[in-house]
Amino acid sequence: MSPRVSHLDNEQCRQCTSFADYMKENKKRLVEEQDRRKGQGVCDAEGAVGSRRPDCPLDKDELGQKSWGLLHTIAAKYPKKPNDSDKQDIKTFFNVFAKLYPCSHCAEGLREDLKEHPIRTNNQDELSQWLCEIHNRVNLKIGKPAFDCSKVHERWRDGWKDGSCD
Ligand SMILES: Cc1cc2nc3c(=O)[nH]c(=O)nc-3n(C[C@H](O)[C@H](O)[C@H](O)COP(=O)(O)OP(=O)(O)OC[C@H]3O[C@@H](n4cnc5c(N)ncnc54)[C@H](O)[C@@H]3O)c2cc1C
Repeated sequence: MSPRVSHLDNEQCRQCTSFADYMKENKKRLVEEQDRRKGQGVCDAEGAVGSRRPDCPLDKDELGQKSWGLLHTIAAKYPKKPNDSDKQDIKTFFNVFAKLYPCSHCAEGLREDLKEHPIRTNNQDELSQWLCEIHNRVNLKIGKPAFDCSKVHERWRDGWKDGSCD
């Protein structure tokens, strides 16, 4: 005899279908729900029902990716021969960024790092290397591979030497 479901909270159970039929029906409903939510572009956590549409609020990793993009690009555009005002501006920027970054434990980590490894503002190359090292310390902390900082200008300023960004 097939096992019976004991819940009485839906039509399936009330009809006393077999457990296998009940599970089959449940799966069907799950797929229908997924399709419905996909159609609506429901914003779910990764792996949950439905697909995540591209214009949802940023999660920690998306925020990180986009923020690193901004930071490395700012460093890539920093003057080769900065004046005092350029130097002051970039220092202020990183200090304020580390206060406002909207992932509190990330921001706290950055503030600590800035204390231990003060910003190097003498020229564009120096700033980019400094930032690459900061990023690598975060990579290390969260178990990601280190980036080769000798390639930081190819990645963020000039494009790869093989011409793949041209
Ligand atoms: C200031 C800051 C602090 C953060 N702190 C934390 C934290 O404490 N915990 C946490 O879980 N997440 C933190 N994050 C997020 C985390 O760093 C990643 O952004 C996130 O995990 C997504 O990683 P990703 O693999 O997509 O690549 P990302 O690390 O976001 O990198 C984006 C791209 O940058 C390039 N890149 C990688 N490393 C370097 C480097 N060293 N120099 C130059 N370019 C590089 C690569 O091409 C990579 O694809 C932080 C982000 C920021 C901006």
